[in-house]
Amino acid sequence: MDNLMLVSNRLPVSIERRKGELQFRPSVGGLATGLASFYKSYESRWIGWSGIPLDSITEAEREHIAKVLKRDYNSHPIFFTQKEVKNFYNGFCNKTIWPMLLYFTEHVVYDKIFWESYKHVNRLFCNAVIKNAREDEVIWIHDYHLMLLPGMIREKRPDSRIGFFLHTSFPSFEIFRLLPWRSEILKGVLGADLIGFHTYDYVRHFLSSVQRLLGHDCTLGKINTGERIIKVDTFPIGIDYKRFSQSTWDVNVQKEKNKWKKKLFGKKIILSVDRVDYTKGIPRRLEAISMFLEKYPEYRKKIIYILLAVPSREQLGQYKLLKKQIDELVGNINGKYGSIEWTPVLYLHRSLPFHQLVALYNTAHVAMVTSFRDGMNLVAKEYLASKPDGRGVLILSETVGAAKELGEAVIVNPNNIEEMVEALKTALTMPEKEQVKRNRVMQRRLEHYNIVRWAEEFIKRLHASKEYQRRMQAKVMTREIRKELVGKYRKSTRRLFLLDYDGTLVPFFGKPEEAVPSRDLLKMLARLAGDPQNELVLISGRDKDTMQKWFGELNIAMSAEHGAWIKNSSGEWEIISTLDTHWKNEVRPVLELFEDRTPGSQLEEKQFSLAWHYRRVDSELGLQRVIELVDDLSDFSEAYNLQVKHGDKTVELKNGDINKGRAAMHWVARNRWDLIVAIGDQWTDEDLFDVLPEEACSIKVGLSPSQAKYSLESPKEVRQLLKELVAEQ
Ligand code: UDP
Repeated sequence: MDNLMLVSNRLPVSIERRKGELQFRPSVGGLATGLASFYKSYESRWIGWSGIPLDSITEAEREHIAKVLKRDYNSHPIFFTQKEVKNFYNGFCNKTIWPMLLYFTEHVVYDKIFWESYKHVNRLFCNAVIKNAREDEVIWIHDYHLMLLPGMIREKRPDSRIGFFLHTSFPSFEIFRLLPWRSEILKGVLGADLIGFHTYDYVRHFLSSVQRLLGHDCTLGKINTGERIIKVDTFPIGIDYKRFSQSTWDVNVQKEKNKWKKKLFGKKIILSVDRVDYTKGIPRRLEAISMFLEKYPEYRKKIIYILLAVPSREQLGQYKLLKKQIDELVGNINGKYGSIEWTPVLYLHRSLPFHQLVALYNTAHVAMVTSFRDGMNLVAKEYLASKPDGRGVLILSETVGAAKELGEAVIVNPNNIEEMVEALKTALTMPEKEQVKRNRVMQRRLEHYNIVRWAEEFIKRLHASKEYQRRMQAKVMTREIRKELVGKYRKSTRRLFLLDYDGTLVPFFGKPEEAVPSRDLLKMLARLAGDPQNELVLISGRDKDTMQKWFGELNIAMSAEHGAWIKNSSGEWEIISTLDTHWKNEVRPVLELFEDRTPGSQLEEKQFSLAWHYRRVDSELGLQRVIELVDDLSDFSEAYNLQVKHGDKTVELKNGDINKGRAAMHWVARNRWDLIVAIGDQWTDEDLFDVLPEEACSIKVGLSPSQAKYSLESPKEVRQLLKELVAEQ
């Protein structure tokens, strides 16, 4: 069984002082309850805030809390002072990052003191994790309160296995960029090995921010920071489905249901359950209810809207105002449409225990979940789970994460009051058969992908992500392996070097013509080639004239244009076979169009290939254009047997039957080499690695996957290695 350390702002238990005594009670709702079953099936522990201000307890009480939590809940508490509650929790968490992540930029407060406190509290968590977590323990960090924590832990324990899950939405780059501390936050999150979001849209937005703000390469849900590869993926959180569906038969729930039925006899019940938060769109929903009663007077006295509004963050001004607004709206509707025997809105401003909540879900004919934004929204899922007979209608906002999975609900735009009014009408008149049909599909999905599945899937993928990193890292050419190679070099007498140029011997430059070899590099290559026991071949994608200009004087063997041209050390340039180039006239105009449409991009024409470089293009635009371009070129590639390859900031087209491997064979097959060293950094070099005999030493520059035996981090390391080889003994 895995050891798991869960880290979240709150613990699965709350501590309160009642009548002078400290009381411990399991937390209601939220992540803690959801994870309870999963949590017990692992050997897991939890780190989180105790919930009780440090300044309000004695040292002895603090020790007592820590002892009880450890003994009864396997948890370790973090204690905050009043000031930390103010600046970290009420401050940065709830006034800065929360509204930012949920698109409420008008509510965001930018305050350096809040930010300092956020860093400080994340540091407190980091210290607690380092103190308590075993070396091999999986660390799973949750939510927006702790976005710096993965990076902080990584710094102290580079080998940790860290997962991070964000339970809110992640906004588009244009919103996130407003945050003064945006890069620090992203870097913090990137300390994890796996980063999870509820929906693919949030993943997209996150990757776009990482790419634009930190400049890392992001492809297919992988971020390459240059040091590590981090996976980013979608895990829509589920609920404890059975707990809801089975509780509907519980006696306490049945009793509650009967009470409601008696009270609301014959009326259709519309229910909403949310925390009093501006993201939930409660006032807008009340307006819709009011408009519904105005537009469809025949429903007056026939419906009751139960508004369960759970108190939340009541110390914050914004939330106080919202509460006042809701109170007034409810009063207006009840005053305008209500009568002695009928109150249209039944307003409950409190939190209900589980059995009462399930009874309400089970009784309600319609549930209205019309949040402006929600990372997921569990209420929507819980409502469906509490309907074992399949009856009931869910009205769901399109801007909550759950809408991605619950497409059979009546979907609305929460800003469109008329649409909500019509949705209510649709819901109230929907035939039962149709209700059941829609709900069954959604219920099956929810039952299957429940909270335990969700958590297990995340942990499984976290291990896979770590494994992937390991596989990549296993190839790193350590000092020992380098020493071994030097030893082999000294002992061998027939050595072949097959070296790529750009990205291998020199780094990439904005413009390809800027990558001129330095005098030092030329001197080193001359030394390598000068040893009569060495054969040095430069195998590049560059055109032959440039190669001749740069390396002609060295008198070394070369291959240009990915193997289309070859030249022996003292020979002339030759074409590897007759190649047709008519296709270039057809394809050139397409690439020229892309060059014109994409500022910073450049078309390069070689004798047997055409390349479109986009290294200096805005990274998002570049990626978008590449997708279009590769698509546009697919017809040509079939018609002319061309290869379209997307490499490091380049899209290149060349004849299908030339590649570096074919050129390399020209030299590989020539002698009985006792040492072959091949070094390259891109997809074109994979063809080269492909043809090498088993015992050859193949080296990939960079972190991305490769069939090469070893990897080196950068051209600088490659030059260092070559220097070691040719060094005087
Ligand atoms: N909830 C509760 N008691 C109540 C009302 C709601 O425990 O009286 C729980 C509800 O079961 C759900 C959670 O509060 O699990 C609300 O989660 P949701 O994702 O809908 O919104 P959030 O509050 O996380 O923004």
